[in-house]
Amino acid sequence: MYNPKSRKAEEFICHEEVLASLDFAQKNKNNPVIIGQILEKARSGKGLSHREAAVLLDCEIEEKNSEILALAQKIKQDYYGNRIVLFAPLYLSNYCVNGCVYCPYHAKNKHIPRRKLTQEEIRNEAAALQEMGHKRLAIEAGEDPVNNPIEYILESIKTIYGVKHKHGSIRRVNVNIAATTVENYKKLNEAGIGTYILFQETYHKKSYEQLHPTGPKHDYDYHTEAMDRAMEAGIDDVSIGVLFGLESYRYEFSALLMHAEHLEAAFGVGPHAISVPRIKKADDIDPDEFDNGIDDETFAKITACIRIAVPYAGMIISTRESEECRKHLLNLGVSQISGGSKTSIGGYFNPMPEDENSAQFDVSDRRPLDEVIRWLMQNGYLPSFCTSCYRQGRTGDRFMEICKSRQIKNFCQPNAVMTLKEYLEDYASAQTRLAGEELINKELELINDRKMRKTVEDCLAGITAGERDFQF
Ligand code: SF4
Ligand code: SF4
Repeated sequence: MYNPKSRKAEEFICHEEVLASLDFAQKNKNNPVIIGQILEKARSGKGLSHREAAVLLDCEIEEKNSEILALAQKIKQDYYGNRIVLFAPLYLSNYCVNGCVYCPYHAKNKHIPRRKLTQEEIRNEAAALQEMGHKRLAIEAGEDPVNNPIEYILESIKTIYGVKHKHGSIRRVNVNIAATTVENYKKLNEAGIGTYILFQETYHKKSYEQLHPTGPKHDYDYHTEAMDRAMEAGIDDVSIGVLFGLESYRYEFSALLMHAEHLEAAFGVGPHAISVPRIKKADDIDPDEFDNGIDDETFAKITACIRIAVPYAGMIISTRESEECRKHLLNLGVSQISGGSKTSIGGYFNPMPEDENSAQFDVSDRRPLDEVIRWLMQNGYLPSFCTSCYRQGRTGDRFMEICKSRQIKNFCQPNAVMTLKEYLEDYASAQTRLAGEELINKELELINDRKMRKTVEDCLAGITAGERDFQF
């Protein structure tokens, strides 16, 4: 029944195989020999199967757990270096016909103000985001064929790419909208999106159907097979994730890795990125109603084990999590974070009072972007606004090849240095600018190839003189 190459949800996320993995993990979780062998394989940086990773997740041997956490950090460093890519979500519309019981935008919630941005408002949002320094967005919209049809999404993408404000523009628009048809994915691909993002929420079919009682999202198979349709339509960078807290985290973890294995087996391209959101408080939503919540320690272990199992994937953590939690997870393999986020409709241009808020969830890390950038640097990271891969045609199997051979950091590092320089010139506070210039000097010294270093130095001089958008 289990077949990672199959295009049928029930075969590539085979329930029996998930249960067998959990059983295998329970039997081996404290077997030092098996765990040692799995860790040995993990050290090669080539990833792990879902069964192997499930054993690490369940492992209770303290010393081995310390090894797992340290290995996750090392693997992220080996693949991506110390750069952390920044992005911001942009909520276009909270009209939604679905009944997801964990989301305040569910159709039956009558006390949340419903809003949909006009193109003029989208221009204002894009300009406000550019004023903060952002270059990479993830647009989000509820599912509503009347209010948010694909034409609205396409027009919004065009509007965002068209805003040239002061020093720059949004260079990459990732899209998080409901599962749709191959035809619509083709349209998104033609619109020049970066990554298509769709979270599974839960891979457990029975729970999925209960948590999505009404609306088109109720169809588990259609939702689970969405990435296959996106790939078929030519979108070869896709981003997956589950909403931890809805179902048993062990089940979700194994199934999430099976999804990644499926994309590799069926299309030769695994997920470009994996997100690890946890359920949060919001209007009409109390996370305590869900009894699968996970504590910070378990969350950290999940993050580390995903990093080890799928070393090539970007790993994303949003402002749902607190500063403290994000700091910890950055040490365990996270490679992308959002900063200065607003999760309400129109919240960047026109921040709303709390009680009129239309936010999808409570933001825990409310620091402005400039503070986040400085904090990253203080903690030894290189903040990056790079968007170059998809603009240079490094997507899908091309990206995977470069990434898996651990060459991508040779692109990430100079691109991070140059985009950080742009940020410092155009948007940073004096304090951040000082710290950033120091960091850039240190990073330049790390470029061993003299020709490359000279090229980067020339680009930095160009940026100081007012030129923008250099990229490798
Ligand atoms: Fe709608 Fe998405 Fe919220 Fe579900 S999770 S109610 S589909 S916006
Ligand atoms: Fe991301 Fe590619 Fe830029 Fe690296 S070079 S930060 S992988 S877009």
